[in-house]
Amino acid sequence: MLEHMLCEMCGSDGTLTRTIIEGVTMSVCQSCTQYGKIINTPRVETLKKRIHTPKIPESTEKVASDIGTILKTTREKRNMTQKEFAGILAAKESLIHKIETDQATPDIPTAKKWEKIIGKKLVIETETNGEIFMKDNTKKGTGLTIGDMMKN
Ligand SMILES: [Zn+2]
Repeated sequence: MLEHMLCEMCGSDGTLTRTIIEGVTMSVCQSCTQYGKIINTPRVETLKKRIHTPKIPESTEKVASDIGTILKTTREKRNMTQKEFAGILAAKESLIHKIETDQATPDIPTAKKWEKIIGKKLVIETETNGEIFMKDNTKKGTGLTIGDMMKN
């Protein structure tokens, strides 16, 4: 059947391709495909769709900004020196010192490990899409205008 078909554009025979030309699906020869859009390329479409799929908002973890204070108060409650405390956390004394004085922040896996050891929350979850922030800023009754916030 196919070999007897002729190009619907120019009437020559050859390998015909299903092509949309000005909104009409036609079987045309290779040289006539340039006038329209070839249908049989679904892979390109699939790829484009995947690229443009919006990312699902995910929550990310962050080391608590007051981790230095948390470590210091925990350590002081236990009457431990930085060296002793570093020992139970399997960390360097210098690192504990830097964290307590806000000069350093441990990475998330380290902070998580310490959470278990001292039983305090050291890693907090934040939303990447910033929704939490929006809600706080639009909250009514705070009495703060944007102008007030600028002054601070
Ligand atoms: Zn043709």
